[in-house]
Amino acid sequence: MLIGELLFHKGGNKVLNWSIRIITFITNSLVLIGFAMLVDWILHVKMTSKRNKRLRTTYVIVLTIAFLVLFHTASVLSIMQQHNYQGYGWTYINFQIGTVMYTLLSSRHHSSFYSLAVVLLVWFWWLPNVPHWLPIYLVTLVLMWLCQRYGTKIGAKPLYYYPFGLVFAAPFLYVNIYSLHGIDVGWPFQMVTLLLTLFYLWEVHYLAKRQRDHQATLVEEARVDELTQLNNFRVFNEDLLAAYDKMQAGGEAYALYTFDIDHFKHVNDRYGHLVGNLVLEQVAKRLTMITAGLDFPVKTYRTGGEEFSFILFEIEEDFQKASAISQMVHDELSKLVFTTDKGETFSITISLGEDRSLKEDRNYLDVYNRADKYLYSSKRNGRNIVTVRGITLGVAPHP
Ligand code: GH3
Ligand code: MG
Ligand code: MG
Repeated sequence: MLIGELLFHKGGNKVLNWSIRIITFITNSLVLIGFAMLVDWILHVKMTSKRNKRLRTTYVIVLTIAFLVLFHTASVLSIMQQHNYQGYGWTYINFQIGTVMYTLLSSRHHSSFYSLAVVLLVWFWWLPNVPHWLPIYLVTLVLMWLCQRYGTKIGAKPLYYYPFGLVFAAPFLYVNIYSLHGIDVGWPFQMVTLLLTLFYLWEVHYLAKRQRDHQATLVEEARVDELTQLNNFRVFNEDLLAAYDKMQAGGEAYALYTFDIDHFKHVNDRYGHLVGNLVLEQVAKRLTMITAGLDFPVKTYRTGGEEFSFILFEIEEDFQKASAISQMVHDELSKLVFTTDKGETFSITISLGEDRSLKEDRNYLDVYNRADKYLYSSKRNGRNIVTVRGITLGVAPHP
């Protein structure tokens, strides 16, 4: 005996109707979950072409309308086939509410609000037997606007999300009561399925957000040096390239300062690697502090083991200023005093090289090569000294 016949024998048409209604709820829930995941994916996937980026919201709008039409058509066809006018109307309304609400919660773009406003106008106008459909439509518009405007807040806490979801659904349920002449599925079934729908949509929204946050943390971690919390070489490389491209396109010049701690191997050998780490941390901290006080936009980097760099952006050509900054950084770092567990104290010195970008540069690394060369001039000239644009300060130039 077929399971359908069995159900029919046991409880007549009623059991069969409820079984189909519940199965319909489950399968459509899976469809709606798929829709929500697709919306999240479209809104947040990294798109390479500019055209696709602009089309992001359009894709979401088209998808939303397509799903609304899909649920609507499925509901009408089920009604026609099963001769259960009220039941299927009630089964499908939750998914339509969920579709509209999810898009507005997730998409920040106003065009999604305007498109859905038009769709709902047609929908409410078309529904038969609904008194006061226009004021109800206006209430829906206000709720839709709130949903988009405060989507981030509403989606962040279940305490806001569920009450808002129920209020959001109210006008839809109201028009359904009139157009379907009552609610034959009963309020308990309708409310339980509505709450379940809100629940899994929230889960998709929340899980997708958590996944994105996690990815953002990983990306951030890949760009920061763990020990010093300065930008790492990867960021240094990117920033140099970007600054070079900008200058070649007519933008401002920039200056690169790079320095290396003198005889750092001795620090490790004498006081141990952990003390060496502490020195690197303190140097980074102090460097960040003193460069933040400069008059130019600045970024600091750990470019090697005990080698640090900083780039000053949007500079003016000024040798005196570059010398003063180099000397100041050198002096400030020499003033740091480190104390070991045993109470021994020591300080460090650095050798520094500086150069600015030149219009004639043919490669973004040219400025780094020059600054690095000058750093080694400082080393060769006895260390604990700075070399600015090829001139080692305090040392008579070679004849
Ligand atoms: P110079 O004045 O010529 O720069 O001499 P130096 O001893 O500073 O240079 P060298 O390149 O010989 O040694 C650099 C040392 O820095 C060796 C390496 O173990 C140490 N170092 C690199 N990274 C770290 C780190 O993360 N922590 C510690 N503690 N030491 C590091
Ligand atoms: Mg060194
Ligand atoms: Mg070194």
